[in-house]
This record gives sequence, C-alpha cells and structure tokens, in this order.
Amino acid sequence: MQQTLVIIKPDAVNRCLVGEVVKRFEKKGLQIKAMKMEMLQPYILKEHYAHLKDKEFYEELIKFMSKIPSILMVLKGKEAVSVVRKMVGPTKGREAPPGTIRGDYSVSNQSNVVHASDSEENAKIEIERFFKKEEIYDFKKMNFDWIYSRDETYIDKTKK
Ligand code: UDP
Ligand code: MG
Repeated sequence: MQQTLVIIKPDAVNRCLVGEVVKRFEKKGLQIKAMKMEMLQPYILKEHYAHLKDKEFYEELIKFMSKIPSILMVLKGKEAVSVVRKMVGPTKGREAPPGTIRGDYSVSNQSNVVHASDSEENAKIEIERFFKKEEIYDFKKMNFDWIYSRDETYIDKTKK
C-alpha cells in the first residue's frame, strides 16, 4: 500500500468544493489517514514548490496558496500516488479532461483545485513536510475486504 499527499487548495475552499473533492477520493476506495485545515505559510510553500522557483508564475502561486487556509490529506491505497494523480488530471484546468477533478472544476492554470504528490518518493517527503507522525492514523477500515481482492492484499506481499 502507498500513501500520498493531497492539498485541497484555497480556490476549492473558497468555492465550497471541499466536500466534492473528498467525496470522490472516498468513493474511489482510498482511505483517509489524516486530514486537517491549515493556513500554509510562504516558507513551507517555497520549499514545497522549490522546483518551480524560476517560473514566472512562482511568486503568484505562493501568494495564492497562502491567502486562505487549505485542506491537507494523507490518502492510502494500492498504487495511491498514480491513482490519485489520474483522478486529479493534468495541471491546467482548461486542458484537463472531463471526469478528472481539475477537468470538472477548474478553468485555470493556477487555481486548479488540488495538489497531489507525483511520485512515491515525493509523497514521503511531502507527507513529512506537512504532517506530524501522530496526526496520521493507521487503522483497518470496515469495508477494506470489499475494496480489494484477497490476492491484492493478503497474498500479494509486494510493496505497492
Ligand atoms: N501553476 C501555475 N501556472 C502554470 C503551471 C502551474 O500557476 O502555468 C501552478 C498550479 O497551481 C500547479 C502548481 O503551479 O498545480 C504546481 O505546478 P506543477 O507543474 O507541479 O503541477 P501539478 O503537479 O500541480 O500538476
Ligand atoms: Mg507538481
């Protein structure tokens, strides 16, 4: 099983889309291991978006992300990183296909509703960046045995 970080961004909070987005991940079968609202400070956003620091939209991105609180979540599932990225869709809202979260709820390059980790390695780094260990809960959900087949969970012991 993998874990991944999702941030429901300030545009989605302002547009009352939090429930919609959470509902999609829950209905897919992903497990919410952690969830909180937080006003993200520029220092942590600068670290989070360091790979974009030379882009012309970088300063605006930091301002946008720190304007009002975001919702942060840790989601767990088999191949959760790619499952969630597929659900989120490509970066630019106008280009994201219908059926994806960005495709259904965004027409913007910046205000694109959610952030999702793009690799297992980055997911680990990002979860540690935004969550303390004690904020992440490990428990077996009641419907777990109905979400995956036995061979995907008990018999298949590979990492994913
Ligand atoms: N972004 C932007 N303008 C652009 C491209 C990206 O403001 O032309 C913002 C957008 O909010 C995006 C974030 O920068 O989600 C991070 O960009 P990245 O390339 O990592 O895309 P993502 O992984 O979010 O799809
Ligand atoms: Mg990214």
